[in-house]
Order: sequence, then C-alpha cells, then structure tokens
Amino acid sequence: MVQRVAVLGAGTMGAGIAQVAAQAGMDVLMYDVKPELVERGLQGIRQALDGRVQRGKMEPAEMEAIVGRIKTGTERDRLADADLVIEAAPEDLTVKREIFSALSEMMRPEAVLATNTSSLSVTSIASAAKNPERVVGMHFFNPAPVMALVEIVAAAQTSADVVEEVREVALAMGKTPVRAADTPGFIVNRVARPFYGEALQIVGEGTATVPQVDEAMRAAGFRMGPFALMDLIGIDINFAVTRSVYDAFFGEPRYRPHLIQNRMVDAGTLGRKTGRGFYRYEDGERREVAFAQMINLPERRSVTFVPEHITNAFIANAGVEATGTDPATREIIVRILTMIMNEAAWAVGDGVASVRDVDIAMKLGTNYPKGPLKWADEIGLEMVHSVLKSLMASLGDQRYRPAPLLWQLVRSGATGDAVGEGFHSPGEKGMV
Ligand code: NAD
Repeated sequence: MVQRVAVLGAGTMGAGIAQVAAQAGMDVLMYDVKPELVERGLQGIRQALDGRVQRGKMEPAEMEAIVGRIKTGTERDRLADADLVIEAAPEDLTVKREIFSALSEMMRPEAVLATNTSSLSVTSIASAAKNPERVVGMHFFNPAPVMALVEIVAAAQTSADVVEEVREVALAMGKTPVRAADTPGFIVNRVARPFYGEALQIVGEGTATVPQVDEAMRAAGFRMGPFALMDLIGIDINFAVTRSVYDAFFGEPRYRPHLIQNRMVDAGTLGRKTGRGFYRYEDGERREVAFAQMINLPERRSVTFVPEHITNAFIANAGVEATGTDPATREIIVRILTMIMNEAAWAVGDGVASVRDVDIAMKLGTNYPKGPLKWADEIGLEMVHSVLKSLMASLGDQRYRPAPLLWQLVRSGATGDAVGEGFHSPGEKGMV
C-alpha cells in the first residue's frame, strides 16, 4: 500500500500531482532544485484549494489538512523513504536518466519509480535505473487535479506487479487509469494527432478556411475546433509534440507535420500567448483570422474528395447535427473523424492499448464527444474504410491507408453496431 509519495519537480505537473496525492490522503514530499520553486509550487496548491473553499466546495479544515500533508524539500536524499516517487522534472532525457539513476541507488528496493514523461521513452528512462523493473510511466494530464485520466505506461523492463501497483495508486487518487504500451505519444498524444494534422492538411489544400474547419468540428460535438485549440495549447508546443511523434515513428506519413505550423513557429505567432496565431487575440478575446496573410495559401477551391452519398451516410450514422450544412463542411467532419478513428485502430492493432482503454483515454484525455472506436462502430466500419479508400485514391497520400485491423474487421463482416460486431462487440466476442 502506497502511503508516502515523493514528487520530483514542483512545476505545473509536479504541484498538481502533489495536490492530487495529498487530497487522496497520502503523505507527500514535493522536491525541486531551489527553495523558491517548491515555495511557488506550494503557493499554487494553496490557491487552487482556496478557490474550492471560496466556492463552498471544500471545508477550510480539509484544506489545511491537505496542505499539512505536503512537505517540501530541496535535498534529494530526503526522498529515500517514499513508497512511490513520481518524477515531473523537465522533458529532457538526460535530466530524467540522471534522476532515475540516482533515485534507484537511494530508494528502498520495493519502492516504485514513476515518470510523468509525455513523449520520452519510458524504457530508455528505466534503463538508467539499477532496478529498471521498478520503473513505470504515470502520465497525468494538465491540470492534474481536474483531469481524470492517467496513462500507465509499462516500459519493456517494468514488472507486472509494478504496473498493477500504480494502477491501484491511480484509482486511490480518484483517477481513471488506462494501460498503454511504451510507444511514441502513448494513447492520447498519438490518437489525437489527426485532429490537428488533417485540419492543417485541409486548410493547406485550400479546400476550407480555418474558421470553417473549426465551426465544422464544433458542429460535430467537439468543444473547440482544432485551430482554436492549437492557439490555446501553443502552436510551438503542438508542433513539437507532432514532430517528436513523427520522428519517433521514423517519418511515418500519418504524423507528418505541416509547413503552415512550421512557418507560424518561425514567425513567432504561437497562439493566444503571443496574441496572434490562427486567430488574433485582444484582451483574451478571439478576433478575426490572423494567419492567412503570412502563409501562401492556395486559392480557395471548392473540391470534395469523398463521394457525397458516403459523406451523407457517415454524417447521418455519426449522429452529428450537421446534416443541414453544405457538402464541404460535412466532408471536413468526415475526414477528421475518419482519420482519428483510423489512428485509434492503428494503435489497437499495434498493441498500444485495448479498444476499451483507447476510447476511455480519448474521452477523458481530450474531451472527445465519444470514444473514436465506439463512434466508428456506430457509423459502420465499411463506411470509415470507404472514406479512407476515397481519400487515398484522390490524394494519393500514404497517410490515408486504412489500419490493417480496420480492414480485417471489414473483411470479416464485423462492421460495427449494425451487425452487432466491430471494435466493441457484445459478449466480449470481438475486440474488447
Ligand atoms: P515545469 O517546467 O512546469 O516544471 C518542471 C519543474 O522541474 C521545474 O519546477 C524545475 O525547476 C524542476 N526541475 C528541474 N530540474 C530538476 C531536477 N533535476 N529534479 C527535480 N526537479 C527539477 O514542467 P511541467 O509542465 O510540469 O512538466 C513536467 C513533466 O511533465 C515533463 O516531463 C512533461 O513532459 C510532463 N507533462 C507535462 C504536461 C503539461 O501539460 N505541462 C502534461 C503531461 C505531462
């Protein structure tokens, strides 16, 4: 049973994770390299909890008890007694490897060493430790106290007991754990790539504008369109994640970054934080589209690539309220959804995670209106497959090739809810 948790790094994620652990009744030691950094982290936690007290969601005594469970420090050897260390230091492999090497020398042999890395290989981090079987990924999402999802990432060396132990810790913290193999982007940062990538592709082709794509995806039930979301995340951050996944998959075309994003990073128009991105911002309010002037976009062309009857049937089965919109808008929804579903199918087929966990992860990690594989089952897998074939035939880009698993299910007649068998199948017969 994990009672003493140490968190390394008191930044955005470290402080959030420390708060989550303390709220779950665990004793926390929050470490950073300088006293002012741990102090800032603790201040942030106080503020967050105080907000809850002000809104009547927490008793002041409870807040004091939670804060009282968090000790802070700048001497690493004080971490030695912890049952579990969660590392949330900067995303730098050299830094993380040094930390895990040192921790594995000082911790008790039964302690668990977890990393919150978003994009590095947990296997590589683990290999720096004396006992790599005790190292595991615990990928929380930002803000950690709010986001329910934790991706539990087993490195090549991680023992099954350790995976189970951190799964239980995540549950005790009130989180929803999913298991992901140690592959680039794990589940969420991989399956979400086409939400941005296909949107950029569509705008780059000149077949739709930035606001058109954003409005279409909002009509499909997404809280934010891809461009508004990239502006919020930071175009540089989003570009860096895409690049890292692309590089880690040795140039797989499905993850190919787009020149538009690259140019915007070059120009320093990074989204909300710089006041300009795909939109312009004034006093935190979104204004007109800003970027068109600085990128050489092709003339707007009114072209569609997917036969209209497929698009219409897809939209109708998807339960999207966009049936009244024009064919171009409907095709935007169909293309982006299809690419997310195909990526989810690749992830399952590659053994990254189960059908169930992919759907849970995308709903909780990105707030997608539905799990992409459940959604694909509802739409009909033959429909999703046809869209990919049309895009592949008309655009000729390998990014559109269907996932082998999708193809197999279609070929075997397991085409989704209409036949009672697809990615999700009642009675555990199919994929789940
Ligand atoms: P951050 O820059 O806010 O915090 C990092 C903290 O680590 C800083 O306070 C820094 O002083 C401290 N630090 C530096 N060297 C250290 C060392 N040797 N030992 C211990 N602490 C050290 O970064 P962050 O956004 O909190 O990210 C931390 C980790 O979490 C990264 O691996 C990141 O990829 C991952 N992550 C971030 C997010 C996010 O949205 N920010 C989400 C999920 C995962």
